[in-house]
Amino acid sequence: MSTTAELIEVSERRSAHNYHPLPVVIHEARGAWVTDVEGKRYLDFLSGYSSLNFGHGNPKIIEAAQEQLKNLTLTSRAFYHDQFARFCAGLGDLTGKDMILPMNTGAEAVETAIKVARKWGYQVKGVQPEQANIIVMEDNFHGRTTTIVSFSTDPDARDDFGPYTPGFRVVKYGSVEAIREALDENTVAVLLEPIQGEAGVLVPPDGYLTQVRELCTAEGVLMIADEIQSGLGRTGRTFACDHENVVPDVYVLGKALGGGVVPVSAIAADQDVLGVIKPGQHGSTFGGNPLACAVGNAVIEILNTGEFQARAAELGDLLHARLRGMIGDGVVTVRGRGLWAGVDIDPSLATGREVSKALLARGVLAKDTHGSTIRLAPPIVISEEDLLWAVEQLADAIASFR
Ligand SMILES: *Cc1c(COP(=O)(O)O)cnc(C)c1O
Repeated sequence: MSTTAELIEVSERRSAHNYHPLPVVIHEARGAWVTDVEGKRYLDFLSGYSSLNFGHGNPKIIEAAQEQLKNLTLTSRAFYHDQFARFCAGLGDLTGKDMILPMNTGAEAVETAIKVARKWGYQVKGVQPEQANIIVMEDNFHGRTTTIVSFSTDPDARDDFGPYTPGFRVVKYGSVEAIREALDENTVAVLLEPIQGEAGVLVPPDGYLTQVRELCTAEGVLMIADEIQSGLGRTGRTFACDHENVVPDVYVLGKALGGGVVPVSAIAADQDVLGVIKPGQHGSTFGGNPLACAVGNAVIEILNTGEFQARAAELGDLLHARLRGMIGDGVVTVRGRGLWAGVDIDPSLATGREVSKALLARGVLAKDTHGSTIRLAPPIVISEEDLLWAVEQLADAIASFR
């Protein structure tokens, strides 16, 4: 069992079909490049949905992980360990927040933010028992738990997984008026992605985040920014909220926080919010484990230099300029910020999946989101030359459908 065909056949026969992968079996990777089991190389333009912002096998991250593997990997939170303090203080400083609550996956961090917002609502805001509501956005993506899919508007994500968790109000993304109308005295939080990744890299109108911030402050409602995909350098700033100098009450982080090595997620908030959680009220056996914290510490150190944010901004400008140049040539629209783009292909030419397959054949790994949209998010370590080469492959792939 070693050829692409054999490995795919067994994978499909012996695993649930909750994903529909492109037909490539990856064996190793370095930087922005991966190699499959046949020895064929591909440029990674997905980065594990922005988990690999700092590249495959980033030397600083791998070294931190290897050092930690030798010393200590798990204690549970029943005890302290020597990587924890640095991780919490470091991530707190990066976000400008007093406190951190570490978890593992992104969905767990979103669940954590929801629980914290509800408890804050009852204990600090004075909402009547069981009455709290949270305002969320159409076309959101926050993960796959039963509570999170309860407020998804994607039928694939939601249908037949009920009964659903109540307490969420879905409004149009990008409209502060819609939030204002949905708000009442029992609203504890507004939960949003500052750029909607899975929806197709949707950037809200200029000023939207600022207005949401002002509304939340005026109404005594927590602003929760899910920066799991948008954060940690991807958009050319540390957080996508930074583009409007907006500071949410709660940051939700994941994906790249684990350096593409281990699942590491967290929420960051000030003491008046995160202080509502007391012993026994929330937790995770693996959350904040020594290996996760050591990797997270390397990631924070990398982000503290600002190099990756600057690189994503610079290469992002180049990427977007080239992509905009393709509008009219099979490309309908281009959205995004930094090294992150959603490209709508003319649907009369090809579906996003067909374009992804044509890119695969040309040595570029990218994935469609919905319909005829493909998402581009290369590791930020990518060279300018490779970036431009991949855009040429995209143009060529699209042209092949004419
Ligand atoms: C990926 C993602 C999540 C879920 O993270 P998992 O680690 O897959 O649970 C939540 N929110 C956003 C914005 C994401 O992109």
